[in-house]
Amino acid sequence: MNSPGAHTVIAIDGPAASGKSSVARELARRLGFAYVNSGAMYRALTWLVLERGISPEDPAAIERLANSAPISCRLRDHDSTIRIDGIDPEPFLREDRVNDNVSLVSSVPRVREILVAQLRRYAERHDLVMEGRDIGSVVFPGTPFKFYIDASPEIRSRRREAQGQRDRISARDQADSSRRASPLIIAADAHVIDSSNLTVDGVVGEIIGRLKRKGLTIPA
Ligand code: C5P
Repeated sequence: MNSPGAHTVIAIDGPAASGKSSVARELARRLGFAYVNSGAMYRALTWLVLERGISPEDPAAIERLANSAPISCRLRDHDSTIRIDGIDPEPFLREDRVNDNVSLVSSVPRVREILVAQLRRYAERHDLVMEGRDIGSVVFPGTPFKFYIDASPEIRSRRREAQGQRDRISARDQADSSRRASPLIIAADAHVIDSSNLTVDGVVGEIIGRLKRKGLTIPA
């Protein structure tokens, strides 16, 4: 799909712990758009894989599960809730075992096919701020509003530690950037922001300034 259709999509991509979630959520709030955390959907499926005792190294079994377990995201004003196989996985999405295995599960092509199709459907009904790894490059390549948020590896590790999580972010970044199916890349037309020395409001302000210059009407 090259065009997000009648609805506006703002794509926010970037590596682990770059600050995308806080920025995307606040941006959605400021614009009155729905917020979609695509990583949470990959995490939800990873959690179900582990919960079912499936090896994260068994792509065929993961594919079977992805084909059979319905996953959806209910969008509210500027937030969303996920259900997978009838369960709300939210409390489990940041478990160490999910952090450790999510890149492996996300690299299965059929998983990406299913989730990309699902993510695209949200733009049929909502204006969106969507964050992830391949939103500007693969999910909505036609949107003119693409941002890539980065930060130094030290700052990103510190942010995760402050959240009390064990998360091998450099291993995830390496896996996410080198996989064959829609790797993490900087889309050619994305605006890159280094958030290392910026607050959330600072990054949101920079994005809003750019959106205005590109002609998007921003609520007062
Ligand atoms: O954004 P977050 O760090 O929660 O994403 C968790 C993982 O989900 C990433 O490390 C990546 O493996 C996967 N992911 C993806 N494509 C996306 C969003 C996340 O492959 N659009």
